[in-house]
Amino acid sequence: MKIRILKNARLFTPVPSGMKDILIVGEKIVSIEKNISWIPGGAETTDLQGKTVTPGLIDQHIHITGAGGKQGYHSMTPDTSVEDLISCGTTTVLGLLGTDGVARSLNGLYAKVRALELEGVSAYMLTSYFGLPPLTFTGSVLNDMVLIDKVLGCKIAISDPRSSFPTENELLKILREVHVGGLTSGKGGILHVHLGAMETGMSLLLDMVKKHKFPIQHISPTHVGRTKPLFEEAIEFAKLGGIIDISTGGTKYDEPYKQVLYALDQGVPVEQMTFSSDGNAGMAKKNKDGEVIGFYKAPIDLNLANMRSLVSDAGLPLEQAITLITSNPARNLSLKHKGRLENGCDADLCVFEDDLSLCDVMARGAWAMKDKKILFQNAFST
Ligand SMILES: [Zn+2]
Repeated sequence: MKIRILKNARLFTPVPSGMKDILIVGEKIVSIEKNISWIPGGAETTDLQGKTVTPGLIDQHIHITGAGGKQGYHSMTPDTSVEDLISCGTTTVLGLLGTDGVARSLNGLYAKVRALELEGVSAYMLTSYFGLPPLTFTGSVLNDMVLIDKVLGCKIAISDPRSSFPTENELLKILREVHVGGLTSGKGGILHVHLGAMETGMSLLLDMVKKHKFPIQHISPTHVGRTKPLFEEAIEFAKLGGIIDISTGGTKYDEPYKQVLYALDQGVPVEQMTFSSDGNAGMAKKNKDGEVIGFYKAPIDLNLANMRSLVSDAGLPLEQAITLITSNPARNLSLKHKGRLENGCDADLCVFEDDLSLCDVMARGAWAMKDKKILFQNAFST
């Protein structure tokens, strides 16, 4: 098993922890100490010379098999490569389907999750898609949660003309399956809810919590920054104890980092917010009159860019800004070994220069990027 020692890391676990050495055996962090002087034979030692080290980044909403198709078959977006993920520090990804449950399938999604794992990152998925009845592997969301190892929860859409307009009762029943499936499998379990721009907003989700007292940790609203009124409801949801997911690559009414600053100002703790890219979602290209003139895929690198803006433009401490893409999504997804740099956690980490440019990435104990050169490759890139 490969043994690696990283010396002189300015460590954010994400808690600022000063200058530390990190001992990594195989895929795991085994020890973090001020000075590891005993170097086992055969160990690879890397002196990080005081560079900033954070947990590897988690993106909990990427269409890893592609999405889109809003303007016909030729507008379906391509899949994500491991190189794309590593280039923006993403070492853990949650893949999911979008509107399309016909030309895109759960089987294809599962195979892509497995492929990304073989290529070196950590990958998980949600079952189902936008609509009802739920799209599943085994006939039910509950069975998928219990029997399919990579399934961490379920996807659904509300307040969107492309949704199936689930009723209160239908939503409660799926939430119950995610909750019970999470209990049985020990996964936690979330219902990841795509929010459209319709005026009904998040009222159904707020009812789940306020009226039905459903445990809020299983409800995971995303695209909450699509419109200002929706974001106001999301702030209410976060104040009830929920975690709200702000999309950096999809449609939004304002810069995502400014949405975070506004929510902080309104009294939402930073722990209650996450960024996700909505990467590879199909986006409409519009001219200045708002007419659709083409399409493009949502970028996957804007989580990192918005985290940087929070630190450099807004002055938020790195240890807070980084939680939106490390420890917070890990908590949302109940991934106990991800999102933190502690003994026993997976050795996923990012190394930054002082200007927060990314120079090295480690995923599951292996160097995925070194000196800004991407080392992980998909099987077809050579
Ligand atoms: Zn999406």
